[in-house]
Amino acid sequence: MATLNLMVLVCLAYVALLFIVAFAADRFAATGRSTWLRSPLIYTLSLSIYCTAWTFYGAVGYAARSGLEFVTIYLGPTLVMMGWWWGLRKLVRVGRSQRVTSVADLISSRYGKSNLLAIAVTVLAVIGITPYIALQLQSITLSFSIFFEEAPVGSYSDASVVFWVAVGLAVFAILFGTRNLDANERHHGVVTAIALEAVVKLVALLAVGIFVVWGLSGGVAETLARIDASPIGEWQVNGSRWATITFLAVAAFVCLPRMFQVMVVENDDERHLRTAAWAFPLYLLLISLFVVPIAAVGLEVMPAGANPDMFVLTVPLAQGKAALAMLSFLGGFSSATSMVIVAAMALSTMVSNHLVMPIWLSAQGDRASVSGDVRNVVLLARRISIGAIMALGYFYFRLSGGGSALASIGLISFAGIAQILPAMVGGLFWRGATRIGALAGLTVGFVLWLYTLLLPQLGAGILPQSVLEQGLFGLSWLRPEALFGIEGLDPIVHSVMWSMVLNVGAFCLGSMLSFPSPLERLQGAQFVNVFDHSAGPRGWTGSVAQSEDLMIMTQRILGAREAQALFQREAALQGGRGHLPEPTPLFLERLERELSGSVGAAAAHAMIGQIVGGSSVSVEDLLAVADESAQLMEYSGRLEAKSSELARTARQLREANEKLTQISLQKDAFLGQISHELRTPMTSIRAFSEILRDEGGLSEEEKSRYAGIIHDEALRLTRLLNDLLDLSVLENGQVTLNMRRGLLSEMLDRAVSTALAGAEGSLVVRRRRGDEAIWLTTDLDRLAQVFINLISNAQKYCDAPQPELTIAVHDVGGQVVVDFIDNGSGVPTEVQSTVFEKFFRVNAEKAGGAGLGLAISKEIMQRLGGDIVYLQGHTGGAFRISLPLEEPGLVGQNHK
Ligand code: ADP
Repeated sequence: MATLNLMVLVCLAYVALLFIVAFAADRFAATGRSTWLRSPLIYTLSLSIYCTAWTFYGAVGYAARSGLEFVTIYLGPTLVMMGWWWGLRKLVRVGRSQRVTSVADLISSRYGKSNLLAIAVTVLAVIGITPYIALQLQSITLSFSIFFEEAPVGSYSDASVVFWVAVGLAVFAILFGTRNLDANERHHGVVTAIALEAVVKLVALLAVGIFVVWGLSGGVAETLARIDASPIGEWQVNGSRWATITFLAVAAFVCLPRMFQVMVVENDDERHLRTAAWAFPLYLLLISLFVVPIAAVGLEVMPAGANPDMFVLTVPLAQGKAALAMLSFLGGFSSATSMVIVAAMALSTMVSNHLVMPIWLSAQGDRASVSGDVRNVVLLARRISIGAIMALGYFYFRLSGGGSALASIGLISFAGIAQILPAMVGGLFWRGATRIGALAGLTVGFVLWLYTLLLPQLGAGILPQSVLEQGLFGLSWLRPEALFGIEGLDPIVHSVMWSMVLNVGAFCLGSMLSFPSPLERLQGAQFVNVFDHSAGPRGWTGSVAQSEDLMIMTQRILGAREAQALFQREAALQGGRGHLPEPTPLFLERLERELSGSVGAAAAHAMIGQIVGGSSVSVEDLLAVADESAQLMEYSGRLEAKSSELARTARQLREANEKLTQISLQKDAFLGQISHELRTPMTSIRAFSEILRDEGGLSEEEKSRYAGIIHDEALRLTRLLNDLLDLSVLENGQVTLNMRRGLLSEMLDRAVSTALAGAEGSLVVRRRRGDEAIWLTTDLDRLAQVFINLISNAQKYCDAPQPELTIAVHDVGGQVVVDFIDNGSGVPTEVQSTVFEKFFRVNAEKAGGAGLGLAISKEIMQRLGGDIVYLQGHTGGAFRISLPLEEPGLVGQNHK
């Protein structure tokens, strides 16, 4: 009885010590003065939760049963640590930059935040780890029972010990794993307690080893001799098993949720990996150093049939070394408790984040908007999950009877967890990996593992015997332990081979055949190129530098004066000496609020995070920033549209203004021209009328000549005024057209005779009457006016010795076209475009008119729906008028 009480007391005292250490460490961490808590040593020691009770007790048993094969379990992590530490560094960097909280979170995050994947990984992990937790409970119970073999009946029972151990571990995990919600899911207290436990188990094993080698055997040489003599030396190495188990240890070391928790989630600084790369293999070497000696000596000194799994305890006990046995017990206890606590914490994070919370949130609808509300629910979900996981482990232990069936659990569990490896490594290094591929690989691997290993090995009764012997549906190639007819393999090798090959196959095939979503591609790039995207390891010394950086950034955003005022105010509040405040969380929070007013909450958060957190921007941050900038862009887009509209209006105003100025100039020029045109005849009329009035003695001939001049000038004036009036009527659009039907040839006849009436008749007009037989409906008088003008122009300006005018009629594109081409020297090319302007005359001296004829003609033609242009490419004057034909084809008809 004394021993029982002592045992319980020691255990309680030990757990109390762990509590104190964890509590103190949490306290230290909160004050921020805990540099040693974040040392690479603590990190390395915390990695030792890889060594569970299975390795603490089991390694010796393993060695006693199968020789050196136990080495593979240590070989795997050593290979990873030494050969692949750069890969681990990538994992840690991704974990930190993406704020990953668990393996499930990592996989889900890599493949576009797929919750389905997270659920798959969580379920796989829970199924794979629960038996493993049961194994730890069993080993604690077993080690208890060693001490109480002689205890009085009734004072002790396996079941109650297991129950209380499970309860105690659950309480510990809940107390330290879920005390508060840290966004980074770091638990300094637990990690420190685990580090302490790592020391205890190493010291315990070393102590037992030293006792066995030097206390029992009497030295190294003797021990070696004993090993040679023992059956351990005779075991044959099974190559495929070695390779498989080493591979499993590699996979498990990277993928196990508890390993991921300490290695990635709890990692403070990725530089710690560099130390761990040599220190952790060293730890493994030390802890495995005495395994073979203890096994060999145990086999020799212990009675036949003694459980070799318990040699670490029973050998010292049998030699009467109770204190050493107690230390060894504590070592085993440490291994089991640390594993169970971290595993329960890691699993509960996954279960609550990916199973409970989504369900709760969807059930809650939009009522869960208050964040405090959600926090409490998360914590509660974590606690319940831990309880549930421990309960699962406990029930598994009770149901399986706690017998030897549990011994192989370790490797089976490893094989299950290894199914995550392809999706994880593929996600880190292959951008082409997709969600579909990951899901396919995981599912195939999980099902095969379940079918070929877990059910045949553990599920006695679940899988009917007939299936085991004849295969599923009686198909022999579906026998769980001889898939596709491959027989004679070790079950582990067989299962791992098939599940991994098909898992990787499905993963690659699925990835290549499917197309990733944009978020997936973005995440893929962030993972694969994490070193390009994220900040380097963070230094803990540059706090003032950080404040300076913050100051510079704030100045840029808020402006120098305001930023300085803000920082000085904060520094005064902190009571510091300088004018730069310490970057305390409180200050950062305030600064973030201040900045978010200017640049948006997400951008402010990301900026401060960049400077202080050393954490790179997560995809959500990016999306939020993009969201904000999209809004800004929309806003500035609207501004831009408005300003371009303003610019357009201004341009229109300017153009209108220019037009007005031009019109006003034109008006001035026009008035100038008119007064000039009027003055000339007026002057001569005045002059000659004065002569007639004042001069006596004028001959009759002179009188009539002068009166003739006055008459001519008056006619000219009338003509000019008529023209001006005509033009102004035409230009103002007040003209009423008198539409009539008439024959083109007749109009031309009339125009030619009118234009040439009274003239010397020197101009020869050439026509082709056949072409002119066209009926037109138009204002015949106005059209004739244009013809007359053109013909009389030819008569006036054609300077050929034998002037000739050709009038040609064609049908061009449904229009009647009449060309007036003479054989004079025409209008010079450079003024051809201005010939239709008012008052334009090529040569003012020899001009016959005021230069209004063509301007009027242009106006008339436009009123009639046609046009008049100067025809280029002719030596003489060449004008073309065109008129629409209201009945197309009429020209052709008239031709016949
Ligand atoms: P006006 O009424 O003074 O004749 P128009 O507007 O009819 O004025 O003609 C303008 C100018 O175009 C004339 O001054 C003349 O120089 C030139 N012009 C018109 N027709 C011909 C032609 N057939 N050959 C050469 N110059 C011409």
